[in-house]
Amino acid sequence: MDADAVVVGSGPNGLVAAVTLARAGRRVLLLEAADRFGGGLRSAELTLPGRVHDVCATVMAMALASPAFRSLELKGVQFAHPPVAAAHPLDDRPAVLVHRDARCTAEGLGRDARAWLATAGAAARGGLPLVELLLKPLGPWRLDVPAFARAARFGAAAVLPATTLARRVFGTVEGRALIAGMAAHTVNDLRSPLTGGYGLMLAALAHLVGWPLVRGGSQVLADALVAELRSLGGQAVTGHRVRRLAELSAPTVVLDVSPRQLLAMADLPPAYRRRLSRFRRAPGVFKMDWALDGPVPWRDPGVAGAGTVHLGGTLEEIALSEAETAAGRHSPRPYVLAVQPYAADPTRGGHTLWAYCHVPNGSDVDMTDAIETQIERYAPGFRDRVLARHAMGPAALEAANPNLVGGDITGGLTSLAQFLRRPVWSPAPWRTPLPGVFLCSASTPPGPSVHGMGGWQAARLALRAG
Ligand SMILES: Cc1cc2nc3c(=O)[nH]c(=O)nc-3n(C[C@H](O)[C@H](O)[C@H](O)COP(=O)(O)OP(=O)(O)OC[C@H]3O[C@@H](n4cnc5c(N)ncnc54)[C@H](O)[C@@H]3O)c2cc1C
Repeated sequence: MDADAVVVGSGPNGLVAAVTLARAGRRVLLLEAADRFGGGLRSAELTLPGRVHDVCATVMAMALASPAFRSLELKGVQFAHPPVAAAHPLDDRPAVLVHRDARCTAEGLGRDARAWLATAGAAARGGLPLVELLLKPLGPWRLDVPAFARAARFGAAAVLPATTLARRVFGTVEGRALIAGMAAHTVNDLRSPLTGGYGLMLAALAHLVGWPLVRGGSQVLADALVAELRSLGGQAVTGHRVRRLAELSAPTVVLDVSPRQLLAMADLPPAYRRRLSRFRRAPGVFKMDWALDGPVPWRDPGVAGAGTVHLGGTLEEIALSEAETAAGRHSPRPYVLAVQPYAADPTRGGHTLWAYCHVPNGSDVDMTDAIETQIERYAPGFRDRVLARHAMGPAALEAANPNLVGGDITGGLTSLAQFLRRPVWSPAPWRTPLPGVFLCSASTPPGPSVHGMGGWQAARLALRAG
């Protein structure tokens, strides 16, 4: 095929870029290194035959809120909502539950009810225009004055470290723990600026659009995007890893790759090369998948209906665990993020569970016992339910997807500096100095998660460039 545009990598950003370009009439060739499309959207039988596991992403809050995905109006993808978006069990008291309804969530927070409504609740009331501002930090925007005003108010709290936000605004163990569990999705030290805002935004999304998953597995979403690309005349190929840009001959190239790969692939001007080399990795993750013979036996039955479960206890414990990881050490009692798809989707061949904890980048330490011990802490008897387990440390994650450098699942550290320089400081950071070459991975704004916004922005720039 004589392509007008080659897209390298089929993560959500690459797929959105490919479909956006094809819808604008470009002849698109999509090249994927792995033997399946999807990147972070892949699903596979990781444990037993017939058990569908999401290798990476399951929770699709960002996809549902994303202007890019909403504009694609994909057919054949069903989102399934668990009865409870997220749960945060605690040792000596009932679990905190995050419901779709902000008031219902606030009721469970006692003295912190008003604080919840004034932060996460207020951000949710900002609605999709506010989310759009956050997902398109560098525009383009329609001038929506109320959304800008709400963003300014939200921005003041959002820039705070999670530890400061939790201690200043929340007074209960429950409220503070909940903020910590949400903010720890950043895979960052909770004393870092912006971690509070990220946590609040995730919580607000639970109220605004929910934290659903894709019925049948995240692969269904990737496959729908590939089908859409092919229906528009595009070509998509697996098992093709691009190592040098010189291999490609198309006027437009969109790269869903890490900055490290871009450095290895291309002869870049020295100044840009220097700036890219300064891009910092995040810690890694150690991820586990289980096939179970029934639901997880949570001590608090309220946790059973939650799609996502934050394990690790109080603000102090979670902040310590994240600080240890950021300092290059393995936490003996790590924060564990668990997802139980069966709470929303009965089509995955039985009860499956996944969970990860954060580890220093490139770690080769087996965290199986530490993760399972944290689950047992809130669900005694969990190990007795395990039929089969599968573990992936940083090396296995990177072998499956070269963008997960050293197990970094956020495409680079989620610091304030790298919020502004992602991967370089520029009004259009998706553009590279090479004519017609664009970067669209999670290492570009707005960063990690399944929202496809990097791909959408890169494709729009490519179309504008002619
Ligand atoms: C364990 C885990 C759990 C997660 N959970 C969630 C979640 O629940 N919700 C959420 O929103 N996000 C989640 N994420 C994050 C989310 O998956 C990523 O932020 C998102 O997938 C990034 O999309 P991307 O398009 O930038 O890149 P990726 O999804 O990483 O895809 C990049 C693709 O490009 C291919 N590629 C790379 N280099 C080349 C090359 N040289 N040639 C050809 N192909 C190449 C790779 O093989 C891969 O398929 C999770 C991530 C992980 C790892």
